[in-house]
Amino acid sequence: MILFSKTRARLVVAATAVFCTLAQADTVIFDNVTLIDGTGRDPLAGISVVVEDGKFSQIAPAETLAGVEGTRIDGTGRYLIPGLMDMHIHLKGGVTVTETGLREAGNDRQVGLAALASYLYSGVTAVYDSGNNPDYIFALRDEERSGSIESPRIFATGGIVTYPGSHGSGPGYTPVDDWPEAKAALDDHIARKPDILKLTLEERGWGARPMIPLLPVDLMQKVIEYYNDHGIRTTVHTSSERRARQAIFAGIDNLSHPIIQGPATEAFGRLMGAKKIPMVTTLAIGEGYSRLAESPDFLDQPLYQASLSADEIETLKTETRPAWQERKWTWWMQIMTPIAQEGLALIHNAGGVLVLGTDQTIGPAVHHEMKLLADAGIPAKDIIRIATLNGAEFLGRETDMGSIEVGKLADAVLLTANPVEDITNTRSIELVMKNGRVIDRQSLPVAGTALR
Ligand SMILES: [Zn+2]
Repeated sequence: MILFSKTRARLVVAATAVFCTLAQADTVIFDNVTLIDGTGRDPLAGISVVVEDGKFSQIAPAETLAGVEGTRIDGTGRYLIPGLMDMHIHLKGGVTVTETGLREAGNDRQVGLAALASYLYSGVTAVYDSGNNPDYIFALRDEERSGSIESPRIFATGGIVTYPGSHGSGPGYTPVDDWPEAKAALDDHIARKPDILKLTLEERGWGARPMIPLLPVDLMQKVIEYYNDHGIRTTVHTSSERRARQAIFAGIDNLSHPIIQGPATEAFGRLMGAKKIPMVTTLAIGEGYSRLAESPDFLDQPLYQASLSADEIETLKTETRPAWQERKWTWWMQIMTPIAQEGLALIHNAGGVLVLGTDQTIGPAVHHEMKLLADAGIPAKDIIRIATLNGAEFLGRETDMGSIEVGKLADAVLLTANPVEDITNTRSIELVMKNGRVIDRQSLPVAGTALR
């Protein structure tokens, strides 16, 4: 891990004011927990987990690790799960909408830092930004990796790559309309080291939406090959089974949304089971419109109160809510959400790889996404894997992240109630650890007032 030792060396040189988010030399022992390790294995009671140099170093029955020196955290009656991973966000602050509704590149770092804090506060230790202003998100990613900000691990695409005028061709996107002419622009994107390439394959002329141009599939295949040849994985925004199939057979590594334009077929479920192409769940965005329209009380939950300012909550209740009540899209998505849930359950039952993602902008949405997966009939134990190890698989990082196993990066959440009995117990957060360091949740720069 050359990168790691480099960033560490830089930290030593850096000023003392820098947050030390890198690995600590101190040994921490989670003593006598019930371990839910993220692999889908059954919970194991009476376990101790030792964390050294930012990694899980020993996992064994509590009595055998009683002699290990270090800071002990009493885990009696507690449940230790891996840090949660949201593999589809768009960090706030990178795009602004003008008075006339135009989307422009933004750079509101304070807003971004508050949103990142809301993820950590909510037990989310890694996020994948699935399309944003590249200057904004890559700068924050650099800061996160150097340890100078309090943030979950940031993985980012930067700008989306697609056909001009197609879905996602907003601020900072890279157009492809001709090959090999498009390569020069792609090289500029690749030089910024995107963690994953994000494409879009969506004509969008469904539901209540207008028709827009579609990225031609042969062009898409060339772009996928080009990024893969540079060692970069690829994902695609698509929402129909037909387009998802086209993307899969063009060589895509991941799908960034479920099938939401209609029911998924049994054959598609079997295809997903055979190919093991990770599919991001993103139920929270589509269901979120009618949720706000019909039952805005969720904004009073503690995690939302911590994550949003009083002004933001007021605006959501008094301005956004009536606007969304009037939109056809709100009610279309309410109809389509159960269909998307059925499709996800079908793929899960066929052995497919689901990955938690919200397409939202704050941490609490992750817990709601898990509830929507439980409502789809997916067992809680599997949902924890979907929210952790499968996220690492989406990133191609399953060998060093995503589960509580010896040698992996120490990202974890300690809960006071059993999430396998009831998935909403993932909200009973007592402690969050990122990279072997216990996060001081009460001092995180979240936007909400609940902590003050
Ligand atoms: Zn998105």
